[in-house]
Amino acid sequence: MVTAVNRVDLNGIGMTSQRTRERLIQRLVDQGIGDQRVLDVIRTTPRHLFLDEAMAHRAYEDVALPIGFQQTLSQPYIVARMTELLLQHGTPQRVLEIGTGSGYQTAVLARLVEEVYSVERIKPLQQRARQRMRKLKLRNVSMNHADGGMGWPERGPFDGILAAAAPERIPEELLQQLAPGGRLVIPVGGDKQHLHVVDRTHEGFETTVVEAVRFVPLRPGTVR
Ligand code: SAH
Repeated sequence: MVTAVNRVDLNGIGMTSQRTRERLIQRLVDQGIGDQRVLDVIRTTPRHLFLDEAMAHRAYEDVALPIGFQQTLSQPYIVARMTELLLQHGTPQRVLEIGTGSGYQTAVLARLVEEVYSVERIKPLQQRARQRMRKLKLRNVSMNHADGGMGWPERGPFDGILAAAAPERIPEELLQQLAPGGRLVIPVGGDKQHLHVVDRTHEGFETTVVEAVRFVPLRPGTVR
């Protein structure tokens, strides 16, 4: 299932950017992204809408970009990689995202899975992300202003959990809210971080360390 987004938003930035987008997709393929569903959704999700005007011209470069409050919109490569890992053994229905940020990863997920539950600790970022979901008519996203290190117990368990901020150690709450057969994709560490994939089996948890990454830290508490 790949949900379409509004054509006006897709075409609103002209032919040049269409080429720029294709270049980005080619770069993701060259870096080993193989899931066609993920590539299709990234090709057709308008990343420029997730940035302030001053940054929008860089939207289709494969780099992380500032979104204010010392946070960043994740690099397309890592969004693609984490999404691909989350979908690897079948598409999860209910997905918890920690660190909504701009909402870009949220939008990508919303077009691939049934329901997205997204938690953000900085209120103004969440409000902007909410407006973007509305503009793109993505109605299968619920948002919560809270400390995502606690997960979202009222809405769990989840078939998939994806975190865009790195804890030093994986919070026990996230493991508890993972359904059997579910998968958690999360950056872990301080100065040196690695992407971890945790599968919940009927026997317990199986962890795979995927690759070195660089994310903002998972911070406790909330900001109004
Ligand atoms: N995927 C987002 C990434 C944003 S950066 C995007 O592409 O825009 C990571 C986000 O995690 C930031 O917005 C930060 O405020 C948020 N964050 C950090 N710690 C958090 C926590 N404990 N709970 C919820 N969100 C958190």
